[in-house]
Amino acid sequence: MAQTDREKGYRGITTFVIEKGAPGFEHGVKEDKLGIRSSDTCSLHFNKTPVPAENIVWEAGKGFNFAMDTLNGGRIGIAAQALGIASASLDAAINYSKQRKAFGHPIKDFQAIQFKIADMAMNLEAARLLTYRAAMLKDDHQKFVKEAAMAKLFASKVAVHNALEAIQIHGGYGYVREYLVERYLRDAKITEIYEGTSEVQHIVIARELLKD
Ligand SMILES: Cc1cc2nc3c(=O)[nH]c(=O)nc-3n(C[C@H](O)[C@H](O)[C@H](O)COP(=O)(O)OP(=O)(O)OC[C@H]3O[C@@H](n4cnc5c(N)ncnc54)[C@H](O)[C@@H]3O)c2cc1C
Repeated sequence: MAQTDREKGYRGITTFVIEKGAPGFEHGVKEDKLGIRSSDTCSLHFNKTPVPAENIVWEAGKGFNFAMDTLNGGRIGIAAQALGIASASLDAAINYSKQRKAFGHPIKDFQAIQFKIADMAMNLEAARLLTYRAAMLKDDHQKFVKEAAMAKLFASKVAVHNALEAIQIHGGYGYVREYLVERYLRDAKITEIYEGTSEVQHIVIARELLKD
């Protein structure tokens, strides 16, 4: 996306397709990330790259709308990503709590562990319902901006919380790479950042609720 008419502000942004190998188009170095390390991330650099008119997506000046549409729908996808991590964290916590014995009992027998697992499962189900509702509204061509923001905000919070609780239930093993739960936490964090941060989701939800 590029500003094609500076005077028009956000109405002067246009979306293009630029093919790999286009003159002046290079990518930066691979970023060294906290999580989602199996998905490469790098910046893209364009230096006087010529773009034919037929490579305009939608129409000139509609880039901002295109970005907003993409983000709104994408938030449901990020909520679903967060659900997967939250669910894997719960499964890992349940499995480990059955295996690990402390003071002569599997730790699943301790109420402190049971309550953590119950909360993880409850939050996961609530996040799942929010996510499915947003997806159903979108599929049904109904308004879904607020619902997608709610799903993404809540599901990402649950993913981070469940991953943290899974680590806690694993004790010291939760902190080492031999077990997967430390990876779940690192992978969960990005869901609170990309496709709009959690702070931005609050803004979107409030704006939808308060508009005249
Ligand atoms: C691994 C990774 C992959 C990414 N992939 C993509 C991609 O494919 N496409 C793409 O376009 N982008 C991508 N991004 C960018 C990502 O969407 C942004 O990093 C994210 O939206 C946050 O924007 P920012 O980094 O500019 O943070 P900033 O806007 O600088 O925000 C910094 C802090 O200030 C807060 N803040 C900002 N404005 C407000 C406000 N008005 N009120 C309250 N708080 C505010 C933010 O919530 C945040 O806590 C990716 C980022 C990462 C890390």
